[in-house]
Amino acid sequence: NVMHLGNPTNTIAVLNRYGFSFQKKFGQNFLIDENVVEKIVRDAGVTKDDFVLEIGPGIGTMTQILCENAREVVAVEIDDKLIPILTEDTLSWYDNVTVIHEDILKLDIVKLANERNGGKPIKVVANLPYYITTPIIMGLFESHVPLDSITIMVQKEVADRMQVGPGTKDYGALSLAVQYYAKPQILLNVPASCFMPRPNVDSAVIQLTRYEKPPVEVADEHLMFRLIRASFNQRRKTMTNSVGNSPELSVSKEQMAAALEKCGLSATVRGEALTLAQFAELANVLSEDTG
Ligand code: SAM
Repeated sequence: NVMHLGNPTNTIAVLNRYGFSFQKKFGQNFLIDENVVEKIVRDAGVTKDDFVLEIGPGIGTMTQILCENAREVVAVEIDDKLIPILTEDTLSWYDNVTVIHEDILKLDIVKLANERNGGKPIKVVANLPYYITTPIIMGLFESHVPLDSITIMVQKEVADRMQVGPGTKDYGALSLAVQYYAKPQILLNVPASCFMPRPNVDSAVIQLTRYEKPPVEVADEHLMFRLIRASFNQRRKTMTNSVGNSPELSVSKEQMAAALEKCGLSATVRGEALTLAQFAELANVLSEDTG
C-alpha cells in the first residue's frame, strides 16, 4: 500500500498536502524519476545485510526504496519542515528507518555506525545537497567512518573532478583526497529534468568504493594533505613557490626545492602535474627532513 514518490504527480501531491516550499539554501532538488532512484539503490548494492546512511532524504523518495532493500536505514535531514512529512507520512509504513533531524556536518557518524552497526562498514547513499558536497565527502573519509562505499548524486563537474588524474584542468585536492581513500567510478549521468525543481547544472551518480589500505604509503597523512592543499591553492605557481610561501606548512623554498630534487622532480614543477604516488613520496621526504 506504499505510494512511491518517484514521479511528478506523487511528489506534487505530497508537497501540496503539506504546503511545502523548496529552500534554495538547503540545496533542495528532489528526484522525480523512479528509474533513476531504483538504479542508484541497485548500483549501491544494498542488501538486507546492510546498514545505510542516507544524507538529506527530502520527502523520502529514495528512502522508501532503501528501506525495501536494506536491513536498516538512518536518514539525516536538516529541514524541520520535512521531518513530519517523513515520519508521519511517506516513511510511516517502514519499521526499519530512523529519521534524524540534524545537520549532517554536525552528526557524529562514527558513533552512529558503532552504535547501530557494531562498527562494521556502512553504506552511504544520497542525492547530496550540492552546496556541501566536498565537506560531506571529506568528513566521511577523514573521520574514518567505517565505510563500505559511498554512492552519491553530485554535480557532474564535481564527479569528474573526483575521477581525473594529473594534467587535466579538473584535477585538484578533491581528486587526490578521494583517490587516496577510494576507487571512484561514475555510474550514471542524470539530466536536470529528473529533479524538482530543476537544478542549473548537470548531475551524475558516482560510487566511491573504500580501499582497505590506501594505494600509496604515507608516513604522515596530515602532512601530505597540507602539501596538496598548498600546491593547489596557488595553481599557477611552481611547487617551490606555492609550498614555500604557504601558511599550510612550515617548509622553506630551499627545503621544498631540495625535496623535489630528491624525488627526481624539477624545481619548477606544478602541483597539477604530480600523481598521488609523487605527492606521497614528497610528503615522506619532507617528513624525514623537517621532523
Ligand atoms: N533525497 C531527496 C531526493 O533525492 O529527492 C532530496 C535530495 S536534495 C538534493 C538534498 C536534501 O538534503 C534536501 O532534503 C535538504 O533539505 C537536505 N540537506 C541540506 N543540507 C543538509 C545538511 N547540512 N544536513 C542534512 N541534510 C541536508
